Amino acid sequence: MKALSTRGIAPPVAISQAIAAGLAPDGGLYMPEHWPTFSPADFAGDETLAAVGKRLLAPFFADDAIGERLDAICDDAFAVTPPLRRFGTGDDFVLELFHGPTAAFKDYGAAFLAGCLGALPRGEVPLTIVVATSGDTGAAVGAAFHRKPGFRVAILYPDGRVSPRQAHQLGCFGDNVRAFRVDGSFDDCQRLVKSALSDAEFRSEVPLGSANSISLGRLLPQMTYYAHASLMHWRKHATTLNFVVPTGNLGNGLACVLARRMGLPIGEIVLASNANAVLPDFFAGGDYTPGPSIATLANAMDVGAPNNFERLQWLYPDAGGLRALLSADAVDDATIRATIVDAWQRQGEAICPHTACAVHVLQRRRAAGASGDWVAVSTAHPAKFPEVVEPLIGQAIALPPALAAMLERPSHAQALADDGEALRDLLRHG
Ligand SMILES: *Cc1c(COP(=O)(O)O)cnc(C)c1O
Repeated sequence: MKALSTRGIAPPVAISQAIAAGLAPDGGLYMPEHWPTFSPADFAGDETLAAVGKRLLAPFFADDAIGERLDAICDDAFAVTPPLRRFGTGDDFVLELFHGPTAAFKDYGAAFLAGCLGALPRGEVPLTIVVATSGDTGAAVGAAFHRKPGFRVAILYPDGRVSPRQAHQLGCFGDNVRAFRVDGSFDDCQRLVKSALSDAEFRSEVPLGSANSISLGRLLPQMTYYAHASLMHWRKHATTLNFVVPTGNLGNGLACVLARRMGLPIGEIVLASNANAVLPDFFAGGDYTPGPSIATLANAMDVGAPNNFERLQWLYPDAGGLRALLSADAVDDATIRATIVDAWQRQGEAICPHTACAVHVLQRRRAAGASGDWVAVSTAHPAKFPEVVEPLIGQAIALPPALAAMLERPSHAQALADDGEALRDLLRHG
């Protein structure tokens, strides 16, 4: 299948070429040229996440250079089937997407992307993956490419705006993975990465790849866990599942919308934002007004200008039509804290600040009379955010083993000014 740019100027390219490129040369984001549709019966016999992923993603890669390797890529990236379990006593569920190497949902997309890029022919010069992160992306991408021959990774993160434990994780890989702490915000990091990626002359000098949620190679695989969870629920209860998705750059929420578009038994979709309310404002009827990001407790969602909105608008150009498809709600820091305390006291569940946004938005929906089966998507393990969660619940949270091993390694990050030329210099030499 071909991929098209949302800006409509760059020519269509093969899906794998779009994955390798990251950003389209006209500055747009790539999208598949059409969306195959399925019915739940098409997945008969598919039990695991990997099995669902192979069937769901096959049409995109049918005539592609990656096609032959797709099953192996899925076996690797989707090895962990995320638990879907009840949360509390009613019809609320939680989908735990944090059982991968860095304990956040981004492990799925990063591993799939690394598998795709590893399956494509490359030149002699290693490919440098440049990635901006507000915390979790960088670690997931670092883990996915660490010691992968033919690849280097440059992680850019906003200095002082990620938690100490996240910062440690970002700098602990070594070898072919380097961390840069940028004097600026996440949006500044993202702009730096975009400026390097859209510089054709520089890319002919230093071959670059993208791994941000703008990469189609991360967006497509994220549909898989929504497909899997909704199918399992459909088989058991014969009802659609409604989702609340913690949202920052809108990659995860968009994947849920796309899975529903492909015919999976998904009902309502609600985006849960933190105090960065650009999406809630739009879905409440306001204009789309991206702005600078605000620092919050759910820092992986501190995004003032969600990149993937461009994809959503491209798919659904009419604002009214778009607002009919999904909704969004904002949660402030005080409410995040109260929700973490409440989940602990009433259910004995420790949840991360991002998950807390979704849990609270679901509570609001229930209070407003929402019926049916709803899932709050749990995007990270609470042990990634001990500074926030532990004082609220009054005890230490045990680390998942993979995370514990990572935190025992030494960590190093290099300072970088918010300056495109400084970044290009560092990427040239090193
Ligand atoms: C990245 C991230 C989010 C936001 O996901 P987007 O795809 O950027 O909307 C939410 N929660 C956690 C824990 C994250 O790491």
